[in-house]
Amino acid sequence: MKHTKIKDLLAATQPMKDINAKGWVRTFRNNQFIALNDGSTIHNIQCVVDFENSPEAELKRITTGAAVSVIGDLVESQGAGQKFEIQARSFEILGDSDAEKFPMQPKKHSLEFLRENAHLRVRTNAFGAIMRVRSVLSYAVHKYFQDKGFVYVNTPIITGADAEGAGEMFQVTSLPLDHLPKTEDGNINYKEDFFGKHTNLTVSGQLEGETFAMALGQIYTFGPTFRAENSNTSRHLAEFWMIEPEVAFNDLNDNMDLAEDFIQYVVKYAVDHCKDDLKFLETRLLEEEKSKPQAERSEMALLEKLDFVLNHSFKRVSYTEAIDILKDSTPNKKKKFQYLITEWGADLQSEHERFLVEKHFKSPVILYDYPANIKAFYMRLNEDGKTVRAMDILFPGIGEIVGGSQREERYDVLVEKMRKLGIDEEELWWYLDTRRFGSAVHSGFGLGFERLVLFVTGMTNIRDVIPFPRTPQNAEF
Ligand code: ATP
Ligand code: MG
Ligand code: MG
Ligand code: MG
Repeated sequence: MKHTKIKDLLAATQPMKDINAKGWVRTFRNNQFIALNDGSTIHNIQCVVDFENSPEAELKRITTGAAVSVIGDLVESQGAGQKFEIQARSFEILGDSDAEKFPMQPKKHSLEFLRENAHLRVRTNAFGAIMRVRSVLSYAVHKYFQDKGFVYVNTPIITGADAEGAGEMFQVTSLPLDHLPKTEDGNINYKEDFFGKHTNLTVSGQLEGETFAMALGQIYTFGPTFRAENSNTSRHLAEFWMIEPEVAFNDLNDNMDLAEDFIQYVVKYAVDHCKDDLKFLETRLLEEEKSKPQAERSEMALLEKLDFVLNHSFKRVSYTEAIDILKDSTPNKKKKFQYLITEWGADLQSEHERFLVEKHFKSPVILYDYPANIKAFYMRLNEDGKTVRAMDILFPGIGEIVGGSQREERYDVLVEKMRKLGIDEEELWWYLDTRRFGSAVHSGFGLGFERLVLFVTGMTNIRDVIPFPRTPQNAEF
């Protein structure tokens, strides 16, 4: 018999005869009521089962987490809170669940605890909701770009270029580490390695994406990205997914417009398509807030926060203006925001970013025109010779969510900059060629997908919004 998704059963408009539901037991009450969930929705369906003549041993097997199949009728429910329930005629345990490791009473586990308990984590309401929102967001990303005629380009995971990610790259070799051949002067001889050169996992698909944008006009990448970040923060992963659009003939302003429009579109898409999951996450977060001291409580509920982003344009502020604001607020030493800088030329720390967003502007912020020396080599130098056409988008609770720029389209300026920074021109010959054969103004940005999911789900630790988090000392599961 074909089974029906619980989501569809709960959305039925009238009772149904002879249905089959399959899922995992959430709770079992009074030897009669089973709350069943199959992952299709945050909601459980109640199954009323007559266990009167069942042996005790059978009842003992109905533990939280057990996989079961229920056949019966979908009938109107007498209980509050649900329209329908299943009046079961037959009940079968498909897979037992160790009651010790999956406690019968589903107490709310902490997210830290869940990160170490793979089997529990995936079955919690919170994680299920987050994963469904993540999936919808991922669809919205493709939908946005595809509807606008962007070409989806899969940039390589293994790359030979390490100009961008100095010190943050995972190396790729096919040889056992202790067998790497050495040159006469003791260095590793990559010529004898698989690719005949030094290779890494990609830290960004941008350089490759640029070459395609300069032929196809507008492209985007959406793929895994790897950074050996040796810090343990709540916003960095060693493996994360990045969305990188790149558009020919777009300048920095067009780039900001695109990023803002894109973010508002995908957030709205999630708000419209994940109502139940977001409502659940909001309630869960509000409960958590209640346990915090008043001063630390977040000022907005989740849906209110998302609505706010949808209804406000992002505040555009130059780096120089931002530094002035930060300098002015330095003497006002509130505990939560104490500043170590801030002189013109310094990179902003996430506490500075969050101050600008959460306290000063109370809105998402696009900071632009950063000092050239704190940004990557490929960004377009401004006429002042000191700043580049870079932009970072800063979000409440997150800090940087997007980093982007107009790219340096002038061959000579680009080469000069690379020389100054000691970046190997020969290694990037293919990239420099884009500036030799029909170069033009172009721009793009990178948005860390997990930071977007963090924002939309209201979570605070990036490990909780990716199926298998990779962080220092952690590649267990
Ligand atoms: P940060 O300043 O937070 O370290 P970044 O400036 O190093 O970020 P970019 O190189 O600008 O990051 O990458 C573009 C986007 O990718 C960032 O704005 C962020 O959303 C995301 N991102 C960068 N590093 C990570 C990471 N380690 N884990 C998750 N997302 C990341
Ligand atoms: Mg970084
Ligand atoms: Mg940054
Ligand atoms: Mg950045």
